[in-house]
Amino acid sequence: MTERKTALVTGSTSGIGLGVAKALAASGANVVMNGRRPADEVQGLLAEVAGATGAAVTYANADMTSPAEIEAMMAQAVDTFGAVDILVNNAGIQHVAPVDEFPPEKWDAVIATNLNSAFHCTRLALPGMKKKGWGRVVNIASAHSLVASPFKSAYVSAKHGLLGFTKTVALEVAAQGITCNAICPGYVLTPLVEKQIPATAKARGITEEEVINDVMLAPQSTKKFVTVEEIADLTVFLCSAAGASMTGTALPVDGGWTAH
Ligand code: NAD
Repeated sequence: MTERKTALVTGSTSGIGLGVAKALAASGANVVMNGRRPADEVQGLLAEVAGATGAAVTYANADMTSPAEIEAMMAQAVDTFGAVDILVNNAGIQHVAPVDEFPPEKWDAVIATNLNSAFHCTRLALPGMKKKGWGRVVNIASAHSLVASPFKSAYVSAKHGLLGFTKTVALEVAAQGITCNAICPGYVLTPLVEKQIPATAKARGITEEEVINDVMLAPQSTKKFVTVEEIADLTVFLCSAAGASMTGTALPVDGGWTAH
């Protein structure tokens, strides 16, 4: 990047979000990280993301299910850096259960975290991007934006919704130098997936090893988990000049899963 941009990555204290934060800092952006952990617990992570890049890295402990906390986070980012040029909507949770046993409060939490937070962050970031005539919104969606799996009704609904939101935003702001795309990863071995392994074993009545080989890696023709770095590097590409004409897309990074 020629000019230092400011990137905000929701849910960036672990997994894909942390990898994206690191890659964006390395590409020359200042970074606002976000998560639920208190600020004093994540100072080491902030230092790790900044590394030797020269990037300024700050942190907002804001709950992505709370529109008020999202508003405060976005205001804090603008106060510190002047604008949010790059928004990565990454925060997400999963809950695995048959639909007729799905706890309604879990449904609400999955939709609020994985879908509503992207709406709130995007609506608050766009005015600054429009003012500058440049912006990038990258939604960390999922292969589950394109296909379904049993026992993940809330997650699949949220991720399909996120892809619809991506396309709509892209069309609305395309003429103003702003792109909006959805990256659709297959399985990446992060804390979110590690937690799902025992839950899926229980829901399907199979062993954890069978979950990995027969459920998670079965549709991925590479027979490998996707890596955090692959998602992070694609995010950086979308934020580069080379990504200027890519908008409204769903980009599967799924080892061939959705090619079936
Ligand atoms: P993860 O559990 O490692 O990270 C999720 C992050 O979101 C954490 O930093 C967590 O603190 C944060 N978060 C959760 N709820 C939050 C809230 N209410 N407010 C603020 N932060 C919150 O999981 P991950 O696998 O890195 O997932 C990141 C994104 O990638 C999610 O949107 C997920 O759906 C998506 N994704 C993951 C995979 C995969 O296989 N891991 C595949 C496709 C898509």
